[in-house]
Amino acid sequence: MKTIKLLHMYPNVLDLYGDSGNVEVLKYRCAQRGIELQVFQHLMDKPDDIDFASMDIIYLGGGADYEQQLLADDLMGCKDRVKAAYDAGVFLLMICGGYQLLGQYYKDSNGEEIPGLGLFTYHTEASRNKRNRCIGNIVVETELMGEPYKVIGFENHGGQTTDVATPFGKVLCGNGNCWSSETEGYCEERVIATYLHGPLLSKNPGLADYVISKCLERQGEPSELAPLNDKLEQECREMLFGRLLNKQ
Ligand code: GLN
Repeated sequence: MKTIKLLHMYPNVLDLYGDSGNVEVLKYRCAQRGIELQVFQHLMDKPDDIDFASMDIIYLGGGADYEQQLLADDLMGCKDRVKAAYDAGVFLLMICGGYQLLGQYYKDSNGEEIPGLGLFTYHTEASRNKRNRCIGNIVVETELMGEPYKVIGFENHGGQTTDVATPFGKVLCGNGNCWSSETEGYCEERVIATYLHGPLLSKNPGLADYVISKCLERQGEPSELAPLNDKLEQECREMLFGRLLNKQ
């Protein structure tokens, strides 16, 4: 049986808006194709000897400023292992708070700077006014395997992310990386970092399949996936696009 190994970092700390559901979606969509998704966990202040570079996916969900402060030291202690995984081509999927922490730094709404892993050039600063937040539904247009794909989700962040070399997509509705930004998230072929909660992958099955395909491709396996019955998901997407994108 084919297997994909996923390392879930801080599952009990970074889990805003059901972000852990992304792991469930990957597990389900793998199982439907006869692929076993093996889930490993890295927990805060619980040293382990997991070889991050032997994984196929590293996943970090979102968390509020408080949780980000809590885990900052532990994450910094993982810097070399995360970097080694990135260099080895492990797929990095990060949501909101996780997205921010892999950049240069996050300056939170109290003005406190949390160092990031510095894997990417972007950095994030929140307004000192805690009420100034980007909140609401968001639709982003990205490209997956050369085809345009609309990604839908929910954003709630005070952090404003700038110096994003290669954004995940173009904002069709919502804020994105900053107030009224034209762009959202960060991406490379095997990196997706986004502000979208929801959970991200339940509303965007095409994105889940992109991640799975890229993992199989890296393993040297055929990366074409048998289509699944996504009728309900498609109907839900169409309904939400109609509601969010056709506003007067
Ligand atoms: N604490 C960060 C912010 O407010 C991230 C929040 C989140 O993960 N939703 O910008």
